[in-house]
Order: sequence, then structure tokens, then C-alpha cells
Amino acid sequence: MNIFVLNCGSSSLKFQIIQTDLELIKNDKDKMLAKGIIERVGSQAIITMQVEGMPPLKQVAPLRDHRAALNFVIKWITDPETQIPGISGLEDIHAIGHRVVHGEERFKKSVKIDKEVIAGIEDCIDLAPLHNPANLKGIYASRELFGITIPQVAVFDTSFHSTMPETSYLYAIPYQTYRRFKVRKYGFHGTSHRYIAYRYRKITGKEREETNIITLHLGNGSSACAIKGGKSNDTSMGMTPLEGLMMGTRCGDIDPTVIEYLMHQEGTTIDEVFNVLNKRSGVLGISGLTNDMRDLLDEIQEHQDRRAILAVEMFCNKVKKYIGAYLAGMNGADAICFAGGIGENAIEIRKRICTGLDWLGIELEDQLNEQAYGGKEMLISTQESRVKVYVIPTNEELILARDTLRVVLNVPRIW
Ligand code: ADP
Repeated sequence: MNIFVLNCGSSSLKFQIIQTDLELIKNDKDKMLAKGIIERVGSQAIITMQVEGMPPLKQVAPLRDHRAALNFVIKWITDPETQIPGISGLEDIHAIGHRVVHGEERFKKSVKIDKEVIAGIEDCIDLAPLHNPANLKGIYASRELFGITIPQVAVFDTSFHSTMPETSYLYAIPYQTYRRFKVRKYGFHGTSHRYIAYRYRKITGKEREETNIITLHLGNGSSACAIKGGKSNDTSMGMTPLEGLMMGTRCGDIDPTVIEYLMHQEGTTIDEVFNVLNKRSGVLGISGLTNDMRDLLDEIQEHQDRRAILAVEMFCNKVKKYIGAYLAGMNGADAICFAGGIGENAIEIRKRICTGLDWLGIELEDQLNEQAYGGKEMLISTQESRVKVYVIPTNEELILARDTLRVVLNVPRIW
């Protein structure tokens, strides 16, 4: 089956076409056939498309909205010059998998999209006003442009975390706020944490039930997850992706009083304060330079910028704190797994996070750590390290494709 995997953000559209079936999954041979990303949807869009094994094609075009962007993608896929192996027309796309950020408590696993599911995702907008509307735009446009007969599946960022116990997901505020308004921690990056746990099982040959690890998805958005017995037991993001680790532009954990205090001091609205906490805080806020970790590390190397150093130190300290908390919460873990743009590539950041954790039994092998970047999946701890450390490049699209297949075929868990 060829699955079209779609991930729509507020001004972006990312897609992959992945060939998969039960046999391919069993042998881990699912294949990405093509991929693309359209940024700045809504104005002069920047478009990058690539057939696997071919050089990427870049261009700029005015694309008014997500529908126009998807239409552009469809024209590219069906253009005889594009030549995606096995795909000559839309009839060769057999199903569509959509990334949906928030599934609240109602979507605990991936589901086939129908009118009721769309209404359910619309109901979750209040909890994810920045994300779900964009995901929905992708769903509306796909139903219109691919037609409603092609099966479409929603895969939720939150669903992997639906196994968290009450003690992890409740906030210590009046219980009625949970009962009446569903105010609680939901967690995000679920498809990524799930993929990392899956690869960890593959690498080590462990069963799901014996998987006790901490997964660190460190990118522009970052989150940690405590996986106990193969299930999410706790995670750092909360009711929204603002909570938890320090991120590119998000503040992470903060005393809520800061919000009211800033409103008074600056004479601003609550929306303006949240704009600061979401878009002008984190690594960008502290360094005053950039939200991009690679640029920040370059800046430190070239100019030893004090606030850049501070931002990096704070970022690493926060990850350390979560590692400590989860090791205590789970009574230890067998491994820590790094993923995401930073986790997969930033040698220095992994080193800083793991330094000083030797009394917990965490010991990096410097040579291995230095080899782990650019998509390599590998162990980076010493033989003696009691808690193993891995770099496991994430692949959320693969999870989306496989879940779509599973839901369409209506088969139970297959991997
Ligand atoms: P997103 O959350 O947007 O998916 P990514 O997972 O792609 O983000 O991660 C982006 C982050 O990864 C950026 O801060 C980028 O600088 C960082 N990054 C990518 N490569 C490197 C590298 N070689 N060294 C340090 N940081 C890197």
C-alpha cells in the first residue's frame, strides 16, 4: 500500500509517500518513495520536493492556503515528469495518514476519519488553538482533492501518553477543573516517543513489557518521556506543548504568577504575555540571539557570547532535572534515548546533559558520542554504563504510515 502522510502546521505542509504492508513491516522494509515540505503557506511559499534517491527540487510560488499547497503537491505527484516509482496517478495512493496534534481524552488511538471524528477534532480546538485548526485544514483539503472514497486516518500526538496514570497527568488544582473542563497534562510528540521505544526494542531484542527507558525528543520543541513497561508513564509537555523543558522559543515550566506579574508590570494583555512565553522565550529569550541550537553553538565557539553560553547551560540543566525526576519516578531505567534535531546531532549538548550523572550509572563513551550525528542510530555509552545511552533518529512519518495501514486493514497491533 502507498500511504500519503500529511503534517500540516499553521503555515507549513509536510508530506511523505511511504510504501508499506504487513510483510514489509515485519521485515522493517517499508520504503519512503517521495517527500516534500512547503513553508510560508499563505504568501510566497518556499517549496522543496524530492523523489527518493533524486536531488531535491526547490522553487517559490504564491500559495494562498493549505488547499492550494496540497493541490500543488498533487499536481507534482501526478506530473509524468516527476516519476515516483510505482505512482503514475492518484489511484496509486491508497490511504492518507494525518498528523493531528491534540486528541484530548477521546482519541486514545489512531482512527479512521469520518464526519464524527472531524467533529471530535474540531471539539479539541479549544485545547490546541495553534495546532488542530491547521491539521483540520489538511483533512478538509484532502477530502476535497483526493475524494472521500480514499480512506483517511488521524494519528494523534497525544494518544501515546493516554496510558499515563492519574498521578502523572493531574495538576494539583481543584479536581473539578479536571472533571468539568478536562484540565490535565496530555503530552505531545507521542508518535516520536513511540517510535524511539519501538526502535529501542528492535535494537535490544526486549519485549514491550520490559521496556523501561527515558526518551528525549530535543528539537525546536522538546519533550522527555518516562516509558515504563513499554507505556508512557509521564511526560514533560502538559495540557499544551508550552510546559516542560526549555525549548527554542517556549519557556517550559514556569511559575504561573509570572503571567499576572508581567501583565501588570508591562501593562500588556494576557495574549501578549502568552505570545512572549510561546514565541520569544526559551533559548531565544535567554540568548537574545536565536532559537536555533546549531547557530547558538557556533556563536559560542566564535565569540564566547555569555548569554548564549547561559542559554545552553539552562537548556541542558533542565533536561538533566527531568532525567533525575524520571529515574526516581520509575525506580531507575535501562536506557536514555536521544532524538530530534538536537538529540540526534548536537554532540556537545548530549555530552553536557550526561556529564555529572556518573553516580546514577550514566557514562558516555566520548568517541562514540562524537560519531553519532546525521541520522546514525547507535549506542553512545560505555560498556560499564549501568544506564545505556542511545541516539535513535526519530521517524514520526513511519509511525503515521504504519498506523494508517493498521487502521485501514483493521488489524490489531502489528509491530
Ligand atoms: P522541530 O521541533 O522543528 O521538528 P528539529 O527536530 O528539526 O525541530 O530540530 C531543530 C533543532 O535541531 C534546531 O535547534 C537545530 O539547530 C538543531 N540542530 C540540528 N542539527 C544540529 C547540529 N548539528 N548541532 C546542533 N544542533 C543542531
